[in-house]
Amino acid sequence: MRYALVTGGSRGIGRAICVKLAQMGYHLLINYASNDSEAEATLRMVRQMGQDGELMKFDVSDRKTVTATLEAWMETHPDEYIEVLVNNAGIRRDNLMVFMPEEDWSRVLDISLNGFYNVTQPLLQPMLVHKFGRIISLASVSGMKGLPGQANYSAAKGGIIAATKALAQEVARKNVTVNAIAPGFIKTDMVEGLDEAALKKTIPANRFGTPEEVAELAGFLASPAAAYITGNVIAIDGGLYT
Ligand code: NAP
Repeated sequence: MRYALVTGGSRGIGRAICVKLAQMGYHLLINYASNDSEAEATLRMVRQMGQDGELMKFDVSDRKTVTATLEAWMETHPDEYIEVLVNNAGIRRDNLMVFMPEEDWSRVLDISLNGFYNVTQPLLQPMLVHKFGRIISLASVSGMKGLPGQANYSAAKGGIIAATKALAQEVARKNVTVNAIAPGFIKTDMVEGLDEAALKKTIPANRFGTPEEVAELAGFLASPAAAYITGNVIAIDGGLYT
């Protein structure tokens, strides 16, 4: 069996990526933080693709639990490894810096950026040993451009982009590719409450993207066809940031 782990797989972009990777023949490890019923729904969708999967509930910012969970999985699967990792879990807590509580700064960085370290680090060695791996992380236009009201989120996503570029160079010789996807506005719970009608006027494509469109890109980056793409950030934003 070929295994893929998607963090934040219970909803939105993560769920669509789980379905896409199942379509590609992967056994899915579906991580999420708290939403059991939505995670179960993702698992049902994976099964509808003719694959199986399992739920892996942990907070990506909790390093001890992440390490313990992944080590326990590796112990029970001594001859197998997770060959595709999608670092997708993320939150936003927008505020102008002048009003931003320390907790909102830290929580966003803890989940997006420290989560990248916590989950990627333990899975890296098996990928190197097997000489194949795909690490795909969800960044954002906010991490490339910097957006007002999102200093915390822009810092986290910019950090992911820099870490992606650095790590890609460390592991390229072992056929492990490391890339980031930078979405613009994608229709998920995360953009709920935003003024879509007003915002879409700023997007050349004149619409928000769908999770499935992002999942297609993730699927391509996970595929053997993308073997020579590494250390890259690929925007999927309808022309928003050009
Ligand atoms: P979403 O609909 O809000 O879903 C977030 C997912 O992350 C959920 O599955 C959630 O699990 C999980 N999650 C949150 N905190 C977690 C934690 N501490 N540990 C483990 N899982 C956690 O978000 P989305 O819009 O699909 O976004 C997915 C990724 O794309 C994020 O990194 C986001 O920053 C990035 N992105 C999104 C957009 C956009 O427009 N939507 C644009 C640019 C970048 P529960 O269900 O258990 O809460």
